[in-house]
Order: sequence, then structure tokens, then C-alpha cells
Amino acid sequence: MADISLTPVRRGRLVVDEGYLFEDVGLGTASTPDPTHERVACPVYNVVVEHPDATVLWDTGSHPDAADGHWPAAMYDAFTHEGCRPLDEDLDAAGYDLVDVDAVVQSHLHLDHAGGLGAFAGTDVPVYVHREEFEFACVSARTDAGDAAYLAGDLDHDLNWRLVTGERSAPFRDVELVHLPGHSPGLVGTVLYRESDTVILAGDVGFVDGNVDDRRPMDGSLLWSKRDWFDSLDRLADLRRRHDATVVTGHDPDAPALLESL
Ligand SMILES: [Zn+2]
Repeated sequence: MADISLTPVRRGRLVVDEGYLFEDVGLGTASTPDPTHERVACPVYNVVVEHPDATVLWDTGSHPDAADGHWPAAMYDAFTHEGCRPLDEDLDAAGYDLVDVDAVVQSHLHLDHAGGLGAFAGTDVPVYVHREEFEFACVSARTDAGDAAYLAGDLDHDLNWRLVTGERSAPFRDVELVHLPGHSPGLVGTVLYRESDTVILAGDVGFVDGNVDDRRPMDGSLLWSKRDWFDSLDRLADLRRRHDATVVTGHDPDAPALLESL
């Protein structure tokens, strides 16, 4: 097993209606016809994965101009982004520099995960992403088809894209990218087989832990395919059981602290 260390990079937080987190929140019943629900703060974070063969950045967060027109106004109204700063500033706060990054792994290409890719434009830093995600993102960003959560302004850069395909791939020793579609078509979980333990950066397979642990789906607007999502939950559960792995979800309030404790 490789000696792999993890450092969370805090990228601000999304403030969202909790109805996005769980599909059943906010639905009335006979006894509670008008339930209350709140807006909750969910962290956006990236991870520096220090591997013997490369320093890998997992996800790149949101574009620093999300509030200033980079994100569509209706999107920003629903997913308000506090503490949004350029990637290099947040990396610096975590003790790293952009030039330290040898490779990027994108869990998927939604706007709160791919907004920092421009920092690697014109470099030869490989950007790993699943082919199905890349294709769907390109269609979505350039046409009215697909999903509004992909922005051309995040993706239209001179980048060294490396497309991975199929169910599993291993860009680095003891680092496996596992296709876990559902939230998006080409989402990959990053499985890190470390000397001390196994960690799965599951990304937005779970927006928060409750989606995964309690099998409670997110709102339908955050599920490209609910059926695929449930299948991916099963595969994630198998991985967790087999390796006694720690699963870190995409925006759980405790995710950055969990990463710091590993
Ligand atoms: Zn996300």
C-alpha cells in the first residue's frame, strides 16, 4: 500500500435549502401539511492527495466570480456561495502552491467542482475525468440539452484532459477511480488504498452523509439518474465493507474535519 496523506482545502460553503439535500424534506403530510425547512451551509472543499508518485488535487471547487455573474443568477440564488476565493489563495492557506500540483482528478464537472480548472490552462498538468462525464458536460455547456450545472466558462480552457473509461481505472498506484454514476453520468469515486486505512472520496454520490448512510436520495434536480444512483450506492457499500473504508461525501458539514482527522 502506498504512503498517501490527505489535506483538505477549504473553498467556502454553499447555502442551500435543505430540500435539495433530501427529496422528502418539505413535503407536506396530512398531519403536517406545511412543514418548515431551512437553508443550510454545506462546505465546498478540495483535497491535496500527497502520493509517492505525484501530488494530486482532487476537484477544483467553484469559480471565484460565482457571485459576480459567472454562475447563472437563478443558480446562484438557489446555491448561494459564501467565502468563494481563487483556487491559489485557498491552496496557499492549506500550505500548497499551484505549481505543487502534478495532476488533477475531477470527481465530476459540475460548477462547484470544476470552477478552478482555469488555473491549469496552458499547463501539461493532466486532468483526469471520466469520459461519460466529459461528454455530457460538453453537450450541457454548449447546448440547451443536458444539465445547467455545467458551465462553458469552467471547461473551455487549454487543458491536458485525460479521459478514463469503464468501471475502474488506476491512474496512480493504489489510487482507483470507480465509476459511480447517478448524481451525474460520469461521477467517479476516488479510492485511496493507504498503508493505514482505505479512504473513499465519494464526492457528490452523497451531497451529505445521510444520502449514503441512510440511502435517502437527494432532490431529483440533483439526480441525473436515480436508478443509477441506487446501483452506485450498492457498489460504494460493497467497497466500504470489503476494505473497512472511510467514505467522505461531497458537501457534508463534517467532511473537512473528517479529512483532517485521517
Ligand atoms: Zn457538489
